Amino acid sequence: MIKLLDKSVADKIAAGEVIERPVSIIKELLENSVDAGAKMIIVDIKNGGKTYIRVSDDGIGISNDEVETAFLRHATGKITSLEDLNAINTLGFRGEALASIAAVTRLKVLTKRREDSVGTKLTIHGSKVVSKETTGCPDGTTFIIEDVFYNTPARKKFMKNDGNEAGKITEFVSKFALNYADISFKLINNNTVVFATTGDGNHQNTIMSIFPTRDYANLIEIKHEENGIFVYGFVSNPGLTKSTKQGQIFFVNGRIIDSKIIEKGIKLGYKERVFSGFPISILFISLNPETIDVNIHPNKREIRFNREKEVIDAIGNAISNSIFKTEGISEFQMPKLSEKVEIEQTYEPEYIKTLKTEQIGIKKVLQEKKPVINDEFSIEPPYNRPFVFDELRIVGYVFNTYIITEDQNDNIYYIDQHAAHERIFYEKLVNNYLSENKISQPILIPIVINTSKSFYNKNRDWMGILDKIGYNISEFGENTFLIREIPENMSLTEAELFVNDFIEAVNQDEVIDNNIVIDKLITKSCKNAIKGNNKLSESEQLVLLNTIKNCINPYNCPHGRPTFLKLSKSDIEKSFHRK
Ligand code: ADP
Ligand code: MG
Repeated sequence: MIKLLDKSVADKIAAGEVIERPVSIIKELLENSVDAGAKMIIVDIKNGGKTYIRVSDDGIGISNDEVETAFLRHATGKITSLEDLNAINTLGFRGEALASIAAVTRLKVLTKRREDSVGTKLTIHGSKVVSKETTGCPDGTTFIIEDVFYNTPARKKFMKNDGNEAGKITEFVSKFALNYADISFKLINNNTVVFATTGDGNHQNTIMSIFPTRDYANLIEIKHEENGIFVYGFVSNPGLTKSTKQGQIFFVNGRIIDSKIIEKGIKLGYKERVFSGFPISILFISLNPETIDVNIHPNKREIRFNREKEVIDAIGNAISNSIFKTEGISEFQMPKLSEKVEIEQTYEPEYIKTLKTEQIGIKKVLQEKKPVINDEFSIEPPYNRPFVFDELRIVGYVFNTYIITEDQNDNIYYIDQHAAHERIFYEKLVNNYLSENKISQPILIPIVINTSKSFYNKNRDWMGILDKIGYNISEFGENTFLIREIPENMSLTEAELFVNDFIEAVNQDEVIDNNIVIDKLITKSCKNAIKGNNKLSESEQLVLLNTIKNCINPYNCPHGRPTFLKLSKSDIEKSFHRK
């Protein structure tokens, strides 16, 4: 026997397609608020949204005689004809969200249009109108939703614990708020404000309100256009990564999406400078909607790009242009962080040691070694040099770490001696590697390197690289190698630390098949070699400044951290409220 489904059963089934869990309700309500022109939206939840969700906005509101209609299936104030479908620029238009939410919850809506003197309060339980009354209320619309899935026990069971549902909501609302920097959002969970954004249209401010940590305060703004693909966003320097993809948030034509293609673009942009983890990348990509297909994922979280390679390249170039060829240098971030600030780890005690190389005897060695692989790699110079090095005057030295210099244009530059030394050391090694004639120094007692059997039996390409850097290393049998000469510009300790880290890195990286890998190996192995004493004498500070000035890129350490931070006189004056 074929029967028509009871209306309430049909409603619940349809609701299941739209409303999967509390965050789906919030998604629909937020999209409606945006469509209603809201400038301020509050999301308030309790128990992961399972027992209570309130979404208030200051949008256009709904007139008293249309409130019930909004809850009918296929009721939408956004399109009336097929032609409208093509010109749609609102977020929702199928007119089923409110009907679906109302089918599976107990719900109240309070709404008032600016032009009306009173508002309306409508109460619906499981699609049935319980009451409707006029009421005083602010302009805009507030939805209060209680007892999600109270009448569909099977669905209710599928909700996760409160923390898990609240986590999904926080993630969603955060991303949603990032996307709409010109709308002020406040998220409240169990009576505690999770975050509040200003709605001032500034993406950096919005990011800082949502993620009030130092990592997010120093992101690099990127802006790039290529083949009609616009890439705008904020990325971390390669030295700063997260252990999860949490900091990688993508919007394509205004929609939050997940995308392996965009992830590939990011990888390309960082040119494998990222050793582990995921750099923060908040990207807003706009491209011709006809070149994407948004319908491949039921929740529309994934899209298909027709021109994948162009998208990857555009993102890659957007990132690499900004992080490797920085126009200027990092500006001092005036602290405007909330109490939630994560205290940045201070660096290890440090010292520039290569500058006082232990002279053990110098020998010129002619390298006739075949190049290991490919073409050669090069260090990219910055676009421009923001100051004349010779005009920098050292005016102070603090925390045994930062050299303070001033230029002749009312700017102060802080130099991080550790980062600067890393840069110097890295460029020396790369120069050694690239140079035909390099100088090695024999050492009195050879350095003995014990390795694992598997490493010993590994391909020996890595020896060629050390050789090109200026080491003389040979096989000694029994899983052992012997170093008899080290690069002239390295101290014994540095040389030993470097080689150990290098071998460790080779051990982890499977194949040395191109220059990017070689560059990566050198970069990686610079880290430990430069740790040592911390305090620099005045003359050592001067040597450091004079050495960094001759680097190809003096402004970043090879891991991407800034070596110089700028603070202008006018920044200081602003902070003292003189301006
Ligand atoms: P859709 O968004 O697809 O049109 P919904 O079921 O989500 O369908 O909403 C139905 C209608 O209710 C909307 O078209 C809009 O006219 C009205 N509406 C919903 N939420 C709001 C709101 N926050 N402010 C003003 N009007 C709203
Ligand atoms: Mg909608």
